[in-house]
Amino acid sequence: MSKRDYYEVLEVPKGASADEIKRAYRKKAMQYHPDRNADNPDAESKFKEAAEAFDVLKDDQKRARYDQFGHAGMGGGGFREPDYQNVDFDDIFSRFSDIFSGGDIFGGRGGQQRGRGRRSAGVPGNDMKMTISLTLEEIAFGVEKKLKVKKYTRCESCNGTGAETEDDFMTCSTCSGTGELRQVSKTMFGSFVNVQPCPTCSGEGRQIRNKCGSCGGEGRTKSEETISVKIPAGVSTSNYITLRGQGNAGIRGGAPGDLIVVIEEKEHEFFERDGDHIFYDLQVSIPDAILGTDVEVPTLKGKARLKVEPGTQSGKLLRMKEKGIQRLNSSMRGDQFVRVNVFIPKKISDTERKKVEALREAEHFDPLKVADTENGFFSRLKSIFS
Ligand SMILES: [Zn+2]
Ligand SMILES: [Zn+2]
Repeated sequence: MSKRDYYEVLEVPKGASADEIKRAYRKKAMQYHPDRNADNPDAESKFKEAAEAFDVLKDDQKRARYDQFGHAGMGGGGFREPDYQNVDFDDIFSRFSDIFSGGDIFGGRGGQQRGRGRRSAGVPGNDMKMTISLTLEEIAFGVEKKLKVKKYTRCESCNGTGAETEDDFMTCSTCSGTGELRQVSKTMFGSFVNVQPCPTCSGEGRQIRNKCGSCGGEGRTKSEETISVKIPAGVSTSNYITLRGQGNAGIRGGAPGDLIVVIEEKEHEFFERDGDHIFYDLQVSIPDAILGTDVEVPTLKGKARLKVEPGTQSGKLLRMKEKGIQRLNSSMRGDQFVRVNVFIPKKISDTERKKVEALREAEHFDPLKVADTENGFFSRLKSIFS
């Protein structure tokens, strides 16, 4: 099971305040408390999931890290596919800035939102998702990438308002400026009021008399932007980075969506990755394995010399300390392991055959004859056959 987004777990918008998060957590905790859910097998995991989400979101530092790197930023390697199409209506409405608020009168910023007044301009833009492929070398040391992103950006002619001039706004005739439609349905149980954002003005409460010629009244136009993104070292496939406000511009001044950059690791020509470590297969000739040698091996940063000791066995792992990948959010670096493969030729010439046959007779090439002090395996073999 992939890990769910913490905001989703608590059902709070991304911009939720500490209080909202606390309240949402309490609600979930009550709902899924094991004492109350004796016959609901899912309750316990839901309870734990909520507790984990709260643990991160209540802490400003952890929350900021989570916002930037997702579960990958939390250590412990939680990977998940981003839920980029997630549309959260609470979130949308929380992004409307409150232009009717009292402002300075009470000293504070914001103040109380005034009842049913027209919501502020615009409809928020959608989040976007983009995948970038990174080489192991880029992952090992971190990299800054420039992304060409085709998206909606704010219309420059009308500065995002969608109108030709300031005077081109008029009160929406469908909703009379309230931004919402109320429908009362009478049933045998009583009257129900259904409130929905006005479809004519998308809840804005106003319409445009003369629409901007460049954007047709949307307040945004399609264009291409180059966006820089810093990828920290140590990321893995399906980790993602959220670039706040870098997604599609909103309609008529609505808040922009986020750009979610999903990481994909390219397969490497000769390295295999295992967490922070990388593995490399080295072919060594029989004489080199016996006599020892000094070889050049590729690393994630250029070539390096590596000593193969005399008597190196096939399959031996040689460790090149801290030549691996830097751990995410850490200064620690993994190692490069070099797996020694002693190369056994399949085709040989007659002269070579004579040399090898001579070796067959040689005392130190017969495992059963090797006086064993260092290798338990051979002594056990010897006792079986003698
Ligand atoms: Zn309307
Ligand atoms: Zn425009």
